[in-house]
Amino acid sequence: GGVLYVVATPIGNLEDISARALRVLREVALIAAEDTRHSLRLLQHFGITTPLAACHEHNERDEGGRFLERLRGGDDVALISDAGTPLISDPGYHLVRQARAAGIRVVPVPGACALIAALSAAGLPSDRFVFEGFLPAKAAGRQGRLQQLKEEPRTLIFYEAPHRLLDCLADLEGAFGAERPALLGRELTKTFETLQGLPLGELRRWVAADSNQQRGECVLVVAGWQAPQDEDALDAQALRVLDLLLAELP
Ligand code: SAM
Repeated sequence: GGVLYVVATPIGNLEDISARALRVLREVALIAAEDTRHSLRLLQHFGITTPLAACHEHNERDEGGRFLERLRGGDDVALISDAGTPLISDPGYHLVRQARAAGIRVVPVPGACALIAALSAAGLPSDRFVFEGFLPAKAAGRQGRLQQLKEEPRTLIFYEAPHRLLDCLADLEGAFGAERPALLGRELTKTFETLQGLPLGELRRWVAADSNQQRGECVLVVAGWQAPQDEDALDAQALRVLDLLLAELP
């Protein structure tokens, strides 16, 4: 049978496509794309003429069968999304799951991913993190989710639509407090790329004061919860040590 390649494409800067991605996209029999018109422009830019077929959220479950038939028949297929890594807040999960269940080899061709790009430059703890994707669009749902996350100790990463960025920052500040360290990664890899690291309260005010920051694509990286240092306990211990030291003095 054929191989299903899961191929990452750029998140803005076309130089971020890998040499391997270009070769695979050129060599497969068919490219399954989230939006064929969008992907046609990418392929034309690189002079790739491989046929495209739609594989989006709404037809993925049914049309997956069509791609599986081609794969079973021996054709290699590449799955791409509009930007970045397929399946990461993008279609592809059902196709990949069906392919694996059918015993078809699935091969990742890694590359750009907005959450990893933001985290890699955020300067916030990156040893453990949680990707939360998009928060609920409505305030009540969003605030409810954030309440569940407010004592999450790992770094948190969110995708957000530009027109909801300010509301989202206000809810983050409400749930996590104004002092929680955070970073806004906006238009990553593109001309107006911005990485602004500030505590949530300051970050919200900074975005509110500049309408340019309320446009384009954005990722929010938020430091995890840190157990508050018990200052009284520290003081008590310090006093005990001081007592011991004083007792030794002449
Ligand atoms: N599959 C993509 C990936 O690997 O990152 C994500 C697709 S998701 C539908 C689109 C969201 O990803 C945007 O709303 C934004 O939150 C984030 N994103 C994508 N490209 C970005 C960029 N260049 N800069 C900042 N965020 C980006």
